Amino acid sequence: MKNDFVAKHLNVEAFARGAGKLAGEERLARFERLLEETLGLGAETPVSYLVRGEVVREGESSEEVWLHLEVQVVLPLTCQRCLGPVDVPVSAERSFRFVATEELAAAQDEEAEEDVLVLSREFNLLELMEDELLMALPVVPKHEVCPVPVKLQVADPDFVDEPVDKPNPFAVLGQLKKPPLA
Ligand SMILES: [Zn+2]
Repeated sequence: MKNDFVAKHLNVEAFARGAGKLAGEERLARFERLLEETLGLGAETPVSYLVRGEVVREGESSEEVWLHLEVQVVLPLTCQRCLGPVDVPVSAERSFRFVATEELAAAQDEEAEEDVLVLSREFNLLELMEDELLMALPVVPKHEVCPVPVKLQVADPDFVDEPVDKPNPFAVLGQLKKPPLA
């Protein structure tokens, strides 16, 4: 069977009616917003995905069009504890229901547990994958155990462990005890 479905321009309904499956890899370089998160690192890193289409029949007359998405990547991020590079696996798995119009989607998305999107013949799955991965990013990427001892002085230039000019508290007490210089 000829597989003429392309992740970047997917005819969602046709894909779902054919119980389509699309599995593949894209280079991280194709995902600009993710590449911003890695500060341009790992352009060749593979983002792998699996998408399944499905039509769910609800009684005689109504049908629902669904896409089930799984996507994963290992992003080269910066550890916020030691500032060294850290490879962070990021993945997302989510199902989407598609409806005919923007109005229906807006009205149903609030009530429905699943995400409701608008049917398209040119649906950009890559953008959807990128949205999902961005949402799955750790807020503070870090090593479970940093490979080097953490030096806070390096991590934060303003941080001073033992300020040289910090007055000795006892010296301060001593000063207080001194009689005022009349
Ligand atoms: Zn670290």
